[in-house]
Amino acid sequence: MCGIVGYIGTRQAYPILIKGLHRLEYRGYDSAGISLINESGDLLVYKAKGKVSALKASTEGCDTHGTIGIAHTRWATHGEPNQANAHPHYSQSHMLALVHNGIIENYKSLRAELEHHGMIFCSDTDTEVLVQLVEYMQTTHQCDTYTAVHLALKNVVGAYAIAVLDKRNPGQLIAARKGSPLIIGVGKDNETCPAGESEFFIGSDATPIIEFTDKVIYLKDEEVVMINRHGKCAITNLDSVSQTPQLCTLQLSLDQIEKGGFDHFMLKEIFEQPSAIRTCIRGRVNTQEHRVLLSGIQDHCAQFKSAKRIIICACGTSWHSALIGKYFIEEATQIPVEVEYASEFRYRNPALSPSDIVVAVSQSGETADTLAAIQLAKEHGCFVYGISNVIGASIPRASDSGTYLHVGPEIGVASTKAFTGQVITLIMFGLAIAQERKTLPTELFNQLIDDLALIPDKMQWVLDHTGDISQLAKIFTYCHNFIYLGRGYNYPVALEGALKLKEISYIHAEGYPAAEMKHGPIALVDEEMPVVVIAPKRGMYDKIVSNIQEIKSRKGRILSIVTEGDVTVKEMSDFCIEVPDTRDSYAPLLTVIPLQLLSYHIAIAKGRNVDQPRNLAKSVTVE
Ligand code: GLU
Repeated sequence: MCGIVGYIGTRQAYPILIKGLHRLEYRGYDSAGISLINESGDLLVYKAKGKVSALKASTEGCDTHGTIGIAHTRWATHGEPNQANAHPHYSQSHMLALVHNGIIENYKSLRAELEHHGMIFCSDTDTEVLVQLVEYMQTTHQCDTYTAVHLALKNVVGAYAIAVLDKRNPGQLIAARKGSPLIIGVGKDNETCPAGESEFFIGSDATPIIEFTDKVIYLKDEEVVMINRHGKCAITNLDSVSQTPQLCTLQLSLDQIEKGGFDHFMLKEIFEQPSAIRTCIRGRVNTQEHRVLLSGIQDHCAQFKSAKRIIICACGTSWHSALIGKYFIEEATQIPVEVEYASEFRYRNPALSPSDIVVAVSQSGETADTLAAIQLAKEHGCFVYGISNVIGASIPRASDSGTYLHVGPEIGVASTKAFTGQVITLIMFGLAIAQERKTLPTELFNQLIDDLALIPDKMQWVLDHTGDISQLAKIFTYCHNFIYLGRGYNYPVALEGALKLKEISYIHAEGYPAAEMKHGPIALVDEEMPVVVIAPKRGMYDKIVSNIQEIKSRKGRILSIVTEGDVTVKEMSDFCIEVPDTRDSYAPLLTVIPLQLLSYHIAIAKGRNVDQPRNLAKSVTVE
């Protein structure tokens, strides 16, 4: 979950690394650290608890010279977030410094063995074991660091992306990965540069690299890379067999990863939704011919025609979008759909067959549990379809086919545009299967296509009319609990609205299917309790009106999300936000937006750090 950035070349590494850490901070922000080899050949390590700004402040006046370095922003898994546990970690002799993303599962036994051989540890992390093990291998096998890294990693169980600096070899950087992403950026001018003037970057994602180059190599699992300032980039597997690197071009621009005038990434991403969704459906939803074009389905037609069941595996917000997907796909295709928490699915013994299609939904494409769920599905011969936002990530690479969201990078920790992107992608997925299996009447299918194409404009309407709900949010700032209610397609929206509030404001919130209230939660309702009801005109409108009545009778305060022009619910509500009319199944794409804005403004009013909420990190690459 953490961020790793590395640089080797002719420029000063420190500013590149600090900037890279800022860009990566959304991945973890418990502590930050940097290691450089300066002109005198010293291996320097600076670390600080907290944010990158604290690291920057702590290095003021220090020697930060050097054209090679590695840096890290941590999301602690082993050992509390303090300075000693911050990365980079030195080896015992201080000859090596290492940063790590992931979890070393057998770190306890490795540490005990190394301690038995006299090695002394300075932190509680699993990571320190790695750097000590590399040093131990080097000493016992009398080999170079590159070889020692191979030997060490062969003894390691778990997930890692690492970068290593070696004081004795200031002209080279070593990195490796297994189960955690790592990208090598190849300097723009490397091919034309005289030997000795080329440069490379390392990143746990593309954000610290894109400013400098769009040429990258995605390291694969169990690959170790050695890069040097003479343009050499050697990749081997753990058995030291040479691998051929594949140079790819990043599809990312710098302005996509900057705030563009907004105070927070989250707000920018909420407001980006109309254009992001337009890009997501571009070339895929054809209103002229009334067709959906998803090559991931059309290239595997037979699989989708014969599928007996679809199982969607996801975590967090993606799980909520999966639930909406289930409702739609079942309605459109009549194929039974199950939605699973990937973390549960992977550890039980699910009944799977080769006629099942397993769909993995993950914004980052790196979610560890979802990746493991895919592996389990593959072992049972299932066809795996990946839906993710990050091009080239592990989940799309491990899938048989799939679709990218194309909503642009999502930096805010609380997911917004990726949620609506996932919902619309799952709708397109359902429509594409319905198209192949001819499960919908033509007239209805055509109407579904036409209505889908109108969604971006309707999203814009919501933002134009609801953009500033900061005054409304202030009224709720001091509440300790919230209930969110919805029915049918808007039940998952209630879950998502509650999750957004919890994530960034730290207010306790529960989402329920509105009719479930009577089975317990209604006991919580009193005049203090805000109840957010998602009640658009279509779907089970009359039913939800009755549910609102039940809450009103218990003096709950109602904030409703209604269809433009609604009268009945509006009159019953204390506060009301309107969204344009759309078909029942598309309503989540609009009703979720006021809820995203509500959590944002409540969190701001409470003085929370919206883009970096406590204890969270963007992509959960550890289980
Ligand atoms: N397991 C390591 C630690 O707790 C790395 C965590 C991370 O990926 O940030 O330090």
